[in-house]
Amino acid sequence: MTAQIIDGKAIAQKIKEKIKAEVATLGKKPGLAAIIAGDNPASKIYVGMKRKTCKEAGIYSEEHKLPEQATEKELIELIRKLNNEDKIDAILVQLPLPPQISTEKALNEVAIEKDVDGFSPANVGKLMAGNENMVPCTPKGIIRLLEETGTKIDGKSAVIVGRSNIVGKPTALMLLNRNATVTICHSKTSNLAEHTRKADILIAAAGKPKLITADMIKKGAIVIDVGINKADGEISGDVDYKQAKEKAAAITPVPGGVGPMTIAMLLENTLKLHKERKQK
Ligand code: NDP
Repeated sequence: MTAQIIDGKAIAQKIKEKIKAEVATLGKKPGLAAIIAGDNPASKIYVGMKRKTCKEAGIYSEEHKLPEQATEKELIELIRKLNNEDKIDAILVQLPLPPQISTEKALNEVAIEKDVDGFSPANVGKLMAGNENMVPCTPKGIIRLLEETGTKIDGKSAVIVGRSNIVGKPTALMLLNRNATVTICHSKTSNLAEHTRKADILIAAAGKPKLITADMIKKGAIVIDVGINKADGEISGDVDYKQAKEKAAAITPVPGGVGPMTIAMLLENTLKLHKERKQK
């Protein structure tokens, strides 16, 4: 069996075009403010890509850079200022933050009506209770990929490798909300393969290259590889793609799978927040 390759790039492109067409009909552009604190090179690349895609879709974006030594107070003051700026509909605090800044405190400052990543405690609580009004972009993109490929989630066994607040846990909740039977694995899981082999839907989000080998995949499973690992100038996921695609029914490539979907969902969330604010 050779797997169907889930073309995240093409699916994301269609979503972007739809958003662009809708934005063109609006009197005022939706606005996104991205905050980067510190010198994390990956964060700079991600924010650059997000802003470029915003521009292509006609969404206004601005970037706010704080130095590596920035204090929590400085970041909170900036977030509060952006909370009050009319042209800004969406605030993105790029993670990770430097160690002297509490991520929880910072995310708690983002006004719920501008929380484009769904990371604020209020939105996290809503997702927990089954309300998906504003959910994080990567999990939302993963679910959209499953839906676009016609994957039935209801009643399926879903295994997620990774339990971070930004990928693993919200993805697990979204799958649970769709009636999957969910297992969450992490670095302390004993015998990871025993769990992954039972997965009809396997989500790899550990950030460990080739963690998931073909023998850990159930024949005919749907495999979503979230990992982005850089080594020797090459980007790879968490799944041993070459071998895995001979075992899975469908699989996402890295790059070109979940990554473009994350950005497409950011645009979608920005537009949604813009429309909701206009209605108030
Ligand atoms: P984190 O480092 O925050 O979390 C990684 C998770 O994987 C942790 O829960 C960790 O367990 C678990 N883990 C690590 N090693 C193993 C192992 N050997 N076996 C089982 N579980 C393991 O990462 P993120 O969730 O932020 O990101 C995960 C990956 O996804 C990264 O490669 C990241 O770059 C990528 N990513 C991709 C995005 C995209 O748009 N495509 C967006 C966001 C992230 P424990 O909790 O016990 O430490």
